[in-house]
Amino acid sequence: METILVVGGGPAGAAAAIAALSEGAAVRIVERSRQPKHKVCGEFLSPEAFHILDLLGGGGLAGPKPAPIRKCLLRFGDREKRWNLPEPAFGLSRFELDRLLLEKAGALGANICRGECGARGLGNGGPSRIVLAAGRTPSASRQNRLFGFKAHFEGPTDDAVELFFMRQGYVGVSPIENGWTNVCGIAPESALHRHGFDVDEHLAAFPPLAERLRPLRRRMGWLMVGPLSYSPPVTHSDVNERLYPAGDALGFVDPFTGSGILNALFTGRMAGFSAARAVPSRDYIRECQSLLNRPFGISALLRKLLEWDCVYYLAALTPGRWLFQLTRARLSGSAG
Ligand SMILES: Cc1cc2nc3c(=O)[nH]c(=O)nc-3n(C[C@H](O)[C@H](O)[C@H](O)COP(=O)(O)OP(=O)(O)OC[C@H]3O[C@@H](n4cnc5c(N)ncnc54)[C@H](O)[C@@H]3O)c2cc1C
Repeated sequence: METILVVGGGPAGAAAAIAALSEGAAVRIVERSRQPKHKVCGEFLSPEAFHILDLLGGGGLAGPKPAPIRKCLLRFGDREKRWNLPEPAFGLSRFELDRLLLEKAGALGANICRGECGARGLGNGGPSRIVLAAGRTPSASRQNRLFGFKAHFEGPTDDAVELFFMRQGYVGVSPIENGWTNVCGIAPESALHRHGFDVDEHLAAFPPLAERLRPLRRRMGWLMVGPLSYSPPVTHSDVNERLYPAGDALGFVDPFTGSGILNALFTGRMAGFSAARAVPSRDYIRECQSLLNRPFGISALLRKLLEWDCVYYLAALTPGRWLFQLTRARLSGSAG
């Protein structure tokens, strides 16, 4: 039996491995990090992500209880918009989510190798089907660079995801497991540079956010990633026919949508099925595009409006449920 190589053991890679194993394929996962680790992420799991975790056998994922999130609050300076989510979302740290998914893949029979998979591993002579789930590609641009940051806090908790928008950036505050709160954001390099890359000082410069964080106590050092660059889903002409790109390696959506993990889980699952069934990679990519082009396009438009400071007026006029649904793929059949 030929082995499917999965490069990257994040949500996309683990979902691909679990799906391919369920088709009877042999799977080898290569994951660069030596052990589970914290990642920069808002750790907001869309309601649909939970359905996919169930399909992946997530009912059997034993771990800390994710925090339910029932409300959404968008803040633009002193103006705000709030609504109840149509179904509860959840907050679970990436340390736990990634660990549980990878352990599940291992328990189902994936061979997990810790180490870097270089270009040679993907070259000719290697496996004929490779799921590329190695995450986003860093931005090559030297101008207007964006960086992400996150830390966990202790203190009073709530069942809301709150997004504080500021010029070219935003900060999300939402609950995760164990009564902790995730604080995660994106800021342009110039804004961080103004505060010597001290994230606490950067946040203190926004009074409504500083007020929100006042009762909380940071329980870990700030993690930072970047430079970030958003990228639409790849087209099949960009990709070698042996490759099934999934998750951020397929396309990186603006994180304020809180849909990156959802995309990683469902494209990973589709990639795993497609590779195991020897579906041509161009057909798999076309199906991903048909699901992702619309939400990626709408997210890009909202980001532009944010830059022009007029997104508040659009948000005020648009029902919250629509804003939420328009930035997500409509899943059914093999995808969901
Ligand atoms: C600031 C920020 C906030 C976010 N907030 C949210 C949120 O609240 N909700 C949400 O749904 N999404 C959010 N996202 C997006 C989300 O983090 C990603 O969409 C998600 O992690 C994609 O999963 P993945 O498996 O594709 O990639 P990753 O999680 O990046 O996993 C890729 C894995 O591949 C490994 N790897 C990389 N290169 C190699 C190699 N050469 N060899 C072997 N292994 C390799 C890495 O170690 C990593 O474990 C956020 C992103 C950012 C930057």
